[in-house]
Order: sequence, then structure tokens, then C-alpha cells
Amino acid sequence: MPAVRLHVPLPLREFAGGRSTLELEAGSVADALAAVRADHPSLADRLLAEDGSVRPYVNLFLDGRDVRALTAEERQIDAASELTIVPSIAGGSPLGREEKIRYHRQLILPGLGAAGQEKLRAASVLVVGAGGLGSPAALYLAAAGVGRIGLVDGDRVELSNLHRQILHGTADVGERKTASGRARLQDLNPGVEVVEIPERLTSDNALQAMEGWNVVIDGSDNFPTRYLVNDACVLLGLPLVYGAIFRFDGQASVFTAEGGPCYRCLFRDPPPAGLVPGCAEAGVLGVLPGIVGSIQAAEAIKLIAGLGKPLVGRLLLIDVLEGEFRTLEVRRDPECPACGDAPTITGLIDYEAFCGVDTDESTQLDIPDDFRLPVPTPEVGARELREMLDTGWDGLLVDVREMEEHEMSNLDDLGAVALPVVQLEARLGELDPDQDSVWFCRTGRRSAEVVEFLHSRGFDRAFNLAGGINGWAREVDPELPVY
Ligand code: ZN
Repeated sequence: MPAVRLHVPLPLREFAGGRSTLELEAGSVADALAAVRADHPSLADRLLAEDGSVRPYVNLFLDGRDVRALTAEERQIDAASELTIVPSIAGGSPLGREEKIRYHRQLILPGLGAAGQEKLRAASVLVVGAGGLGSPAALYLAAAGVGRIGLVDGDRVELSNLHRQILHGTADVGERKTASGRARLQDLNPGVEVVEIPERLTSDNALQAMEGWNVVIDGSDNFPTRYLVNDACVLLGLPLVYGAIFRFDGQASVFTAEGGPCYRCLFRDPPPAGLVPGCAEAGVLGVLPGIVGSIQAAEAIKLIAGLGKPLVGRLLLIDVLEGEFRTLEVRRDPECPACGDAPTITGLIDYEAFCGVDTDESTQLDIPDDFRLPVPTPEVGARELREMLDTGWDGLLVDVREMEEHEMSNLDDLGAVALPVVQLEARLGELDPDQDSVWFCRTGRRSAEVVEFLHSRGFDRAFNLAGGINGWAREVDPELPVY
């Protein structure tokens, strides 16, 4: 029988043992296909339907001519014939081997599959704020294989961000959040493209920055940005995945989706400035944005892959302290100034003024994490103090406890002096601010406050004994009672 050379296109090569051509013994096109079926069954499955006919989205060319146009006689194969498979291409390429392995656990999900995975790969999501909410959202989107992820943030990583902004690490402190986030996302999944937008969104740059993305995730931490992002999404017709946190409470929803409400339908106007404290004053449990940001990632994935029921028209309320999730219905408001039937907002406005933010203070808002961690109290551990004493440290060791406690255990034989907290201010003048001193109480808590107070008064060489006298008993002197 004559030999025919079958050219296998790139997307199908993994089913042909990685080869780009196969040599087949065949006297006709039908023989060649039978040989494929016999020797390369998984390739045959891609080419042929159950009944043996060539699948409609595959074309076969014999010596440059479409097989469908050939008569039976013309489908005979001569020596040195060439058969070429031409698959239909829809702009993308099927998932490669590495992608199939990487995404295997979600590819086998009912409703997602390869088609859903290809949608994720073709999709782009803009994450506004690479902070507490944006961190888990961006991480999960990159891990899930969303093809293009934009990070908008004008800030740099601070140490006090790290308890919740898990996109960044300790080594990133001082780096731009977009750069640190991009490096982390690319490490997690080199197959996704990460676009850095290292600025704060403003009325001047928002439309340009937000145009062209498929979904926007709002992970911002201030009202001007929230209203700006909402209005821009209405104007651009983009779905907005909303998330917000306050102390132990979280909210999530999908706004500005087809037929659904927008953020302004729910909160038409921002609260007066100062009424709602930010993270700085209110604090936030680090895991809370982890939960809310993950929900935002889930909603974005659902929107892209057409999965399930997105949170359109519903506001999810999360109460971490009570362990409760509730959803409330939110309707589109026909009178809404942004998305209503006769909208009055037809362009971006001055959101700082709209939200009553004093422009002098607006730089404050540039820092998603406007609170600064106090400088840690200078301290020494029990073993460290033992070593200091053994090597001739001649500082002052001060016991700030009450006299009753002193009777239970004390460090008098080390030369400790008693100076109960209540007497501290009155007797401050007796102390030399430049002398080394170590202060202790029962557990190290009260003395830490004392040391902070001392530092505020210029006692730069004052240290707290971490763990207090009980820590000393446990770590250095087991003879000493622990109380
Ligand atoms: Zn609205």
C-alpha cells in the first residue's frame, strides 16, 4: 500500500504523540482515517464522529484540495500524497497540556469544564485596590486562570498592611503595591498577564483606565473611589463586583450588571465626612477582607464563566463575629442619578467634594492603610536579660508591681528596685533618662505601657522585660514561684 504523510496541526499534536506528521499506509482517504483510528485512537476521536465521518469543524486536504470536494476516485492515494488536517480556529487555542494539569480540579467541575476555562483565559478583570480585598480577589483570579488582571493602586506596601493584604510580603515593604502584587501573581501563575496601574483612580483617569475590561472588582477603601468606580462602571456598561468591610462586618454584591442595581441605588449619597471611620480608627480583622475578597473573586468567575446565580440585586451581609451570612434584596432604583431611567450623572464628577472629603486631608485617603502601627515597645527577653547581667550590664532593673505582688516573687537579689506604677509620675525626676533600664511586672503588659510612657518622656534607653517576672521564672529561674 502507498504511504501517505498526515500533517497534524499544533492543537492536535498531543494526541499524535507530539508529532507534527504521521506516516500512514493507505490507499485512500478512508484507509488513512482507518489507520488513524487504529494507531492513534485519541486523535481519531478529535477528527471523526461516531459514524466515522469527519467532524464538521475539521477539514481534510489531500494534496492541497479539500477532501469534501473530491470524488471517490480522487480520494485515492498515490505514493507521496500529503494529507493535511485543518481545524477550525476561533481566535483562541485549545487548552494546552500544562493548562489541563494546572486547572484540572476546576476543569472537572460540572458547568465549568474546558469551555469555562477558555472563557476565563480570554477574560480580563480590573482589581481596584491591591489591598485587603484586592489581595485574595487577585490571587484567586490568577490561580483560576483569568487571562488578564489589572491592579490599580497608588500606594506602597507598609508593614501594617500585611495582616490582611496577603498579596504582599515582608520583603515588599516600601515597594509599590502594583509591582509587589504583579510579582506575586506571576509567580502563582505565569500564564496570566498582569497589568500595573500604579495610580489612584481620579475623575481624570478612571474612564481610560477602566475601559476595555470585562469585570471590575472594587477593593477600594474610601467613598470617593467607590462612587467614582460605580459611576464609571455605569457609564462604561461594566459589571462591578462590590465588597466592603468594617471591623467584623462585610458586604458583597454585583452592581451595574444588566438590569441590576448600582451602588447608588443602594447608597445614593455618601455619609457625611467623619461619620464612618476608616480602617485607621475602626480596625479590621485581617481574615474578614480575605472572606469578602474571595467572594468577590467567586462572583467575577461566575460572571465570566456564566456559572450559577450572581449576586445581582442582592446584598450579601457577612457577620464574622456571629458567624452569619444573610442576603437582602436590592432593587434598581428608577430614580437613581447614575443608572436610573433619567440619569443626572452623565460624566464623572468631583468625588472628593461629593463625599465631603477635605482636599487637604485627601492625601490621607491615598493610604489605604491610614493607620500607623506604633513603634514596637523596646524589650528584652528573660534569657537576654540573664546574659546582660552575666556580662556586666549595670543598668537599672525596676519592678512596677504592687507591694502585695512583690511578696509573692521578686528579683531583689538581682538588685531590682520597686517603683509601683502609681508612683511613677511623681518619682520620674529621680531617674536618669539616659541610663539603661529594664522594667518588669507580672506578665510584661503593664511594664510595656510604662516603657512606652517613659519613651514619650525621653527615656530612650528603657526596655520592657518581655513575659514579666513569670517569664523570668519559667525561662531562667524555676525556683521562683509563678503566680
Ligand atoms: Zn443605580
